[in-house]
Amino acid sequence: MKFDTAYCLSLNEKLSIYDVRDLNFDETAAFDSDKDSFLCPNDECRAAFDTGNSLSTFNAKNVNYLRTPHFKNKTSTRHIDGCRYASTHKAATGENDDEREEHFPSEFVLTRRQYERKTLVAGINGNLLQTPTKTPSNPVASPHVANDTTPDKTSVFAHPVECYVSNIDDKDKLKSMPLKIGDHTATYWTFFKKIEYLQDNKGLIYWGKIKEIKDYTSSFRIDFEKKVWLDKKPYSVNVYLSKKLIDNYRKRKAFLEQIKAAVDSERPLYCFFYGVTPELKQVPSKKNPEQTFGVFSANIENLDHLIIREAPGAESV
Ligand SMILES: [Zn+2]
Repeated sequence: MKFDTAYCLSLNEKLSIYDVRDLNFDETAAFDSDKDSFLCPNDECRAAFDTGNSLSTFNAKNVNYLRTPHFKNKTSTRHIDGCRYASTHKAATGENDDEREEHFPSEFVLTRRQYERKTLVAGINGNLLQTPTKTPSNPVASPHVANDTTPDKTSVFAHPVECYVSNIDDKDKLKSMPLKIGDHTATYWTFFKKIEYLQDNKGLIYWGKIKEIKDYTSSFRIDFEKKVWLDKKPYSVNVYLSKKLIDNYRKRKAFLEQIKAAVDSERPLYCFFYGVTPELKQVPSKKNPEQTFGVFSANIENLDHLIIREAPGAESV
């Protein structure tokens, strides 16, 4: 079975596998899931065993993945009677349950989750960094209140995208699952909008097949295959990623690895993004700079809200 969440020993918090991936690639965080331990998220169950009774991770560090990342039981992992994370025999024999993301967060939170270390850690100068204290006068805790149930919110874009992509053949499911972003609530089905229909509504998650990625060495432009029609005329669509945006990104290395692999890839790739809506702009023609032509374009403002990936089954949607 796949775990919706697992208890991370070093952070003393329950994390989704998408949180773990985010931390692994974050160059500002001292985190390595291979050196950490992940335990059953059921508090009662976890208390019954020592910290060696751990889970394993799947696709926690692979930049480009096809199969849904998750935590799972090792053959040695034990659970108390009645723990809902105990493996059934059926799950142990087949890998079928690895094919879909079943844990749909109902909210995509736009501010990044902050992870607090439980112990004091030595800083660069040997100073002890203060562990942030939780303010007792503020009973409203962070939006990510750890509990034992399925995590209802995520700030990692890859999570709702994986829900959509791995269930792309199940339209009824996507139409039945709610998703909230900011003040806007809809279903997964309506929140994910094909790029060619971007004029339908603003503020959605737009996605489409990539035609080409222009590599300007330190900046990139992603061109989509489908065009937007306006007044019976087709217009190309692209998003632009600036050098400054990439240079300041805390997951810069992982991002460059991903996009450079995508530039050379022969396989069909898709781009998903949230936060900007491409708009019609007039740009000078290369052949004839006196002339301009129209293109729907946007500058990406937050790389946390952009993903390039394969999406098997997306072609037929
Ligand atoms: Zn358990």
